Amino acid sequence: GEAVLTIDGLKTHYKTDEGVVRAVDGVDLTAYRGQTTCVVGESGCGKSVTARSILQLIDLPGKIADGRIMWQPDPAVEAVDLTTLDEDGEQLRRVRGGEIGMVFQEPMASLSPMYTVGSHLVETILLHTDLNEADAKDRAIHELKRVGIPQPERRFDAYPFQLSGGMCQRVMIALALSCEPALLIADEPTTALDVTTQARILDLLLGLQEETGMSMLFITHDLGVVAEIAADVSVMYLGKVVEKAGVDELFENPQHPYTQALLESIPSLDHDGQKPGRLRAISGTVPHPADRPAGCSFHPRCPHAMAGTCDAEEPPVIDLGDGRIAPCHLHDPESSGPGRPLPLLPVPPVQ
Ligand code: SF4
Ligand code: MG
Repeated sequence: GEAVLTIDGLKTHYKTDEGVVRAVDGVDLTAYRGQTTCVVGESGCGKSVTARSILQLIDLPGKIADGRIMWQPDPAVEAVDLTTLDEDGEQLRRVRGGEIGMVFQEPMASLSPMYTVGSHLVETILLHTDLNEADAKDRAIHELKRVGIPQPERRFDAYPFQLSGGMCQRVMIALALSCEPALLIADEPTTALDVTTQARILDLLLGLQEETGMSMLFITHDLGVVAEIAADVSVMYLGKVVEKAGVDELFENPQHPYTQALLESIPSLDHDGQKPGRLRAISGTVPHPADRPAGCSFHPRCPHAMAGTCDAEEPPVIDLGDGRIAPCHLHDPESSGPGRPLPLLPVPPVQ
């Protein structure tokens, strides 16, 4: 596919009294035109900070320390590096909520309790288009209808607290889509919702993507969601991408022990009647990014860790073909690992 957004060597660091926290530490990520790219990993692995870095929405004391974020909504126009844009400048304002829409996990928290659904929408539309107030209102009602909100004329005057979580998330999606973004960044948009509502929202997003041709960068910890919507997947662990692959290749033939462990942790439907895709814990916990283990940061939890190698040297990024990467010493011909491609290794059962 053709890249619409290319993140290259992104580092987002937080300077704290205890030292520098490398929340995002050298991430490469590509979103393709008209496709859905999923970023998956446990909480605390830097998914959200990566997403927020794209639009310079990082909370202080976070700061982009290195890297480029090349944005090219129109293939005929040269890409711009979003990291170089002035934080309060006109250009970034046009990108934020205009060219790139964003939906977050907590829809209620993203809407102001003081304003009606309609005024949220009209304000956004006026900010990003040349429409007058009356046309902006028509457009707002059209957007509410498009995201499946019943009686949109009535909901226009409702306050966020008068809506359910699922309806609020539909409003957030309407807000994000009201300016016809080329890319929608969705950060765990269904995590706070019940399973039925989650399925409806995913269907809605996929339908809207088909209708508009927008690209999606979808952040989730849920492999069930990944299986449903992704074309390609980046797996993150402790501020780095540890595997990148097409969705089928990832599920059929994971090439990084962390991905293998994640897949192993999906409970089967028979076992406990749970929805598949809800992750159980992998043995051990994710270390805090301030205490990143030396070498491969997964080594304390990795069943295949090689002493003297994995705890000492960062694994090299080796191209496994077809754009797949899985930085792991097992793929390194120089190491004592089995070489590539990595055979499916038995991963111990999760706790
Ligand atoms: Fe495991 Fe070593 Fe590969 Fe890291 S580099 S995932 S510790 S085998
Ligand atoms: Mg998050």
